Amino acid sequence: MKQITNSEILRKRKSKEKENAEQRQTRLKHDRERKRNQRAKETEEQRANRLMTKRERKKRKRASENTEEHQRRISSETACKRELRILKQRQVKNLSDANESTQETDHSDNESDAQHAPPKVNIISKDEHNMLNEFHSKMDNIQYNTCPVCNERISSMTLVMGSCRRCHTEKSSPKKFSMENDMDPGDVPNKLEGLTEIEEMLIAQVFTVMTVYRLKGGQTGYRGSVINFSQDI
Ligand SMILES: [Zn+2]
Repeated sequence: MKQITNSEILRKRKSKEKENAEQRQTRLKHDRERKRNQRAKETEEQRANRLMTKRERKKRKRASENTEEHQRRISSETACKRELRILKQRQVKNLSDANESTQETDHSDNESDAQHAPPKVNIISKDEHNMLNEFHSKMDNIQYNTCPVCNERISSMTLVMGSCRRCHTEKSSPKKFSMENDMDPGDVPNKLEGLTEIEEMLIAQVFTVMTVYRLKGGQTGYRGSVINFSQDI
């Protein structure tokens, strides 16, 4: 029998992802034919073996195993069961812990207990609570660096000698996205703050024409070139 390695499975999966509808159809057709041919060739015993259920196969294997194999199977099964039991106990403990803490808070009114008790799915364990806290503190500690040359401000930016990597490596002067190159629009004047979309369009110095289309999933796609017309405002 042919050995199938992990890398082979991965390769097949990748090529399956890449194929188009037509290629898929031909592949499925080939598969069906191959299976049909295999079945035509198989013996009575092979056929019985193929149609056997999982349970029957297990039963047959057990009947044929020797003492050593029997011992090994029993010990692995016991270990598996033990692990499952421990997991179950832990879950039950977590649930009862959570129930206790909710009972402590609203034991004053027994009647409303049934109504106000939060559904069990909303209760999080102590570990999960700690994890959430850790996540929030990490999120709070994220630093946003601003490049003084191009005004870019992102979290993962490392400043090299006071400016971002792109501005630092750029040797030309003035730098592409700098104020000296007229690329900094500056602060928005008070009068122009909070305009509606229509107002913004009316005062825009440039009127853009481009192809926008809606993709199947609801996203917006763009294609082709963009034409800019200067407007007389
Ligand atoms: Zn920069």
